[in-house]
Amino acid sequence: MHPRTAQFIEHVRRKAEANGIAFNLANSVVVDVGHGIMSSGYYESSAELAVGVAKPERDWLPVLAHEFCHLEQDLAQCSEWCDSDVGNIDSSELLDMWLEGKNFSDRKLLEALHKTKVCELDCERRTVELLKRWKFKGISAARYAQRAGCYMQFHNYILIRRKWYPKGRPPYRCKAVQARMPTNLDGDYAEISPEVVLLFDRYFGYGGAR
Ligand SMILES: [Zn+2]
Repeated sequence: MHPRTAQFIEHVRRKAEANGIAFNLANSVVVDVGHGIMSSGYYESSAELAVGVAKPERDWLPVLAHEFCHLEQDLAQCSEWCDSDVGNIDSSELLDMWLEGKNFSDRKLLEALHKTKVCELDCERRTVELLKRWKFKGISAARYAQRAGCYMQFHNYILIRRKWYPKGRPPYRCKAVQARMPTNLDGDYAEISPEVVLLFDRYFGYGGAR
């Protein structure tokens, strides 16, 4: 492990500990978010930060940075983090429920999508700043911004296809979309172009694309 990475882990550990938050670097590729949903990492409000680290550092370190920025959003109690409910349902949970087949009004669905994007974009911008500050070996903030852009556009995409991505095909690895994303996160990712929809269709094998 690069010394700077070890330093960062210590930084995260101290901040988590000081705030009564469990910090788990799991010796596995993915971690269980709950209900059997696996993810490369997660942050649960005031409770736990977990990241799977049984893979190359360049793969898990940006995930750790991202989840740590959710922790920072939580500690700062910023509006992007706190204002996440639609009615009495957390917006990202509402989206999950909708993807699983439960129907909501268009107004609720669009509000949930908007709030999820606002929260994630704020977190991604914090992550880009963090990567610029820490200058980890082999991790480019510009490249990270492009990958984050893929995720932002993926949120727009699920509204069209009503599907999550297939296992092992995370949106950020779609090279064709990545190459079309800006190297900063100044934009608002309000809309998805038909071209990007088509590129995701091909990459995921959705929408009858060839
Ligand atoms: Zn996130």
